[in-house]
Amino acid sequence: MDLNSYSLLTSLSSVIINDENKNSQMSTIAHEKYEAVIGLEVHAQLLTESKAFAPVSTEFGGAPNTQVTPLCLGHPGTLPVLNENLVRYTIKMGLATNCKVAEKSIFARKNYFYPDLPKGYQISQYETPICYDGDIHIEMESYEKTIGLTRIHMEEDAGKSIHDQDPRNTLVDLNRAGVPLIEIVSEPDMRTPQEAYAYLTKIKQIVQYLEICDGNMEEGSLRCDANVSVRPRGQKELGTRTELKNMNSFRNVERAIQFEIERQIELIEAGGEVVQQTLLWDANKMETRQMRSKEEAHDYRYFPEPDIPPVIITQEMLDEIKKELPEMPDIRLQRFISELQLNEEDARTLTENRGLADYYEETLQHLNEPKAVANVIMTEVLRVLNEESISISDFKITSNRLAELISLKHDDKINSSAMQQIFNEMLENGKSSAEELAKEMNLIQVSDAGFIEPIIDEVINQNPDEVKRFKEGKKQLIGFFIGKVMQRSKGKANPKQVREIIIDKLN
Ligand code: ADP
Ligand code: MG
Repeated sequence: MDLNSYSLLTSLSSVIINDENKNSQMSTIAHEKYEAVIGLEVHAQLLTESKAFAPVSTEFGGAPNTQVTPLCLGHPGTLPVLNENLVRYTIKMGLATNCKVAEKSIFARKNYFYPDLPKGYQISQYETPICYDGDIHIEMESYEKTIGLTRIHMEEDAGKSIHDQDPRNTLVDLNRAGVPLIEIVSEPDMRTPQEAYAYLTKIKQIVQYLEICDGNMEEGSLRCDANVSVRPRGQKELGTRTELKNMNSFRNVERAIQFEIERQIELIEAGGEVVQQTLLWDANKMETRQMRSKEEAHDYRYFPEPDIPPVIITQEMLDEIKKELPEMPDIRLQRFISELQLNEEDARTLTENRGLADYYEETLQHLNEPKAVANVIMTEVLRVLNEESISISDFKITSNRLAELISLKHDDKINSSAMQQIFNEMLENGKSSAEELAKEMNLIQVSDAGFIEPIIDEVINQNPDEVKRFKEGKKQLIGFFIGKVMQRSKGKANPKQVREIIIDKLN
């Protein structure tokens, strides 16, 4: 927007202030005047078996302080030893997001005092992150966009302070101290809370495809700090930002950013100034509140970690890791569209998570009917996963059993209601074969006219009124006849054939 239209909007907003409905009108105008700028810092907890610098388990849920070594406790004289998988997982993330990988990167000490950090410093990376200059592609409803990644670096988690178990004391659990994290820092490229939501969703999808993090934000394995500022549209320089913390779901990230954008615009419109500070999102009150001001005052006195040698990445190591990368979601999505001829929406649903996409393709190995299999998975299978809040890895029906069931229907051996009944039965007992169940449950469709015709005749004889109306032109009654016949055949008749014979007989 050029300067002229900007001043036009300014004068427009002063006109509207006198309007009765000033609040809502003003906020819309104010929104048009300003543009929000958002950059995210995302921490992902890596699924390595042992900690970043000590050979001890990272498993979640152990009794407090049972998964610790002298190193995690900050004992003097202990030495960190770098977990190779921390490096490999981080590089996977870097390669999957088009980052450059530094040939040589170093760890640094970030010094601060906190009870859950007995060493007095966190091992992180500072000046030389291992991955940098990447990007992540997001798809919005009506446009697509690429968000720049400044860097991805490796670091360790701190322990956990527990404030609500003892009435007097804060308790400290150091099981989490030293668990490996990556921090993914974006460029300030997002402009709306929805873009931030899409970006975060994409990160979750990527880490899950790579199997380096479970992506669960509610449980804290994915954490997000949001930096938010606003500026008049058309202005080049960034406005003063605030940093939002404590959002433990995707929706809360979106809501907190939305709230903060509006707060900043209202503040500026009222003649105030945004102060650089860290704010906590309060999900109950749906508002941000101050945590500490003067973030700039933090001085972590970073210096290179003297106990860990520089991390050197060779071309061989890079090539090897590249080979381990799975097909990534965007590419898989395109392949599902071009190779399997799925529409985009279906392809998107099926590639949303890797386990589901794998299950779908495994089913296709047994029955190469992409559309039919997609339909059953997107309706029946996803319904069960949602109802039971389970993931596909816990789904009872194996892909070859599902393929067998779908092919029974595909070959017209059972009808859709029978398929549904057998599906439900298989859920109870995933091991049974669909065909055996169909026989046991007496659901094999009979396409033998000798079986169907007497039933049709009976239905026609018993419903003379409907027959009369049908003949007078009320053709919708065909459904009524088919229904009766299906009922009487106990679902075994082939509805297509039933329809043909009825029409034949009634004309
Ligand atoms: P720090 O480590 O002190 O939080 P960084 O400069 O590393 O600061 O920035 C952190 C995040 O803040 C990055 O994601 C960056 O894109 C974002 N950011 C920086 N300046 C702004 C701004 N003015 N408005 C919104 N986001 C910003
Ligand atoms: Mg920050």
